[in-house]
Amino acid sequence: MAAARLIVMTQHPDIDDLPAFALRMLNTEKTARIQQHLESCPDCRAVARDYARIADLLLYAAPLCEPPAHLKQQLLDRIAGVTEPSGITVVALQETTL
Ligand SMILES: [Zn+2]
Repeated sequence: MAAARLIVMTQHPDIDDLPAFALRMLNTEKTARIQQHLESCPDCRAVARDYARIADLLLYAAPLCEPPAHLKQQLLDRIAGVTEPSGITVVALQETTL
C-alpha cells in the first residue's frame, strides 16, 4: 500500500517573492516556504514557472565579451596540472538503452 502524502495549502507568497525565487535570491527559509506552497498551488506554480523561464533567458541578455588572453592560458595550465586521484580505476562506459 502506497503511503498517502498530505499536501497542505499554505498562504500565497508575496507577489515580489516569486521573481526573486526564480532568480534564487531568497534565503533558505523563504525558499522552502515557497517550494512547499508551490506543491499545493497550481496558480503560483504556473507563475513561478514563467519567472523561471524568464530567469533562464536572462543569461542570454548579457552581452558577449572576449575573455582576456591570459585567462584562457591560466585555465589550460590548470587543466594540464590536474592528475587523476590515486586508487581510482577508470572503466569504459557501457551503452545502455533506456
Ligand atoms: Zn499560491
